[in-house]
Amino acid sequence: MTPRLNLIVLGKQGAGKGTQCTVLALKYNIPHVSTGDTLRNAVKAGSELGRQVASILEAGELVKDELVNALVRERFTQADAQRGVLLDGFPRTLNQAEALEAMLGDDGIKLCINLDVAKELVIRRLSSRRVCQECATTYNDSDIEAISGTCSNCGGDVIQRTDDYPDAIRTRLETYERDTEPLLAFYGERDLLVTVNGDQSPSDVTAAIVKVVHERGLA
Ligand code: AMP
Repeated sequence: MTPRLNLIVLGKQGAGKGTQCTVLALKYNIPHVSTGDTLRNAVKAGSELGRQVASILEAGELVKDELVNALVRERFTQADAQRGVLLDGFPRTLNQAEALEAMLGDDGIKLCINLDVAKELVIRRLSSRRVCQECATTYNDSDIEAISGTCSNCGGDVIQRTDDYPDAIRTRLETYERDTEPLLAFYGERDLLVTVNGDQSPSDVTAAIVKVVHERGLA
């Protein structure tokens, strides 16, 4: 049996994880599992889960480990995840990383890609980021879609995420440094960590990731 291609894309908010995962999911035919998207969709749908997490997301704080772990565990039971998964925004704490190891067992994480981008650059990127509420396409505040408020992809409303407001950005980056950065050592010790310069064009970042995946004999 071919081993499952379980990949993690790690990096600060605004490092380009979502953009890369969209492309890589198509390339490797594995689902893009974004806990942030799942939680935002729950908030938008007004579900019980959404009501529980709405204020946490808005403040840029982390949702409880048990809750996200359960979401991911459930996602792994779906048919498409049997080929592998591309994890975006999970794990975000050591507790989540340990829970993930337990979920995947022997056929575990094959690679953790650290998209490295300076803090000043991600602050600039996040502050100017606008996003379609319907299809999640991202724009820059100077793009016509952001100015007109209409997505050219699907016609949905283009807005600024509330967690991209300055206070929330600050909280999210502090949370990243405190809770998520320790994962670099966690995956480094397991020889699973590769750092890619995220301050290049999106296609150059993709090419660098594809090269590493190939060199490691994973695809
Ligand atoms: P993201 O789009 O990945 O930046 O996630 C948006 C928000 O969802 C985060 O600021 C957290 O509030 C929440 N979230 C997403 N993934 C996780 C996670 N793995 N653990 C805890 N909270 C999460």
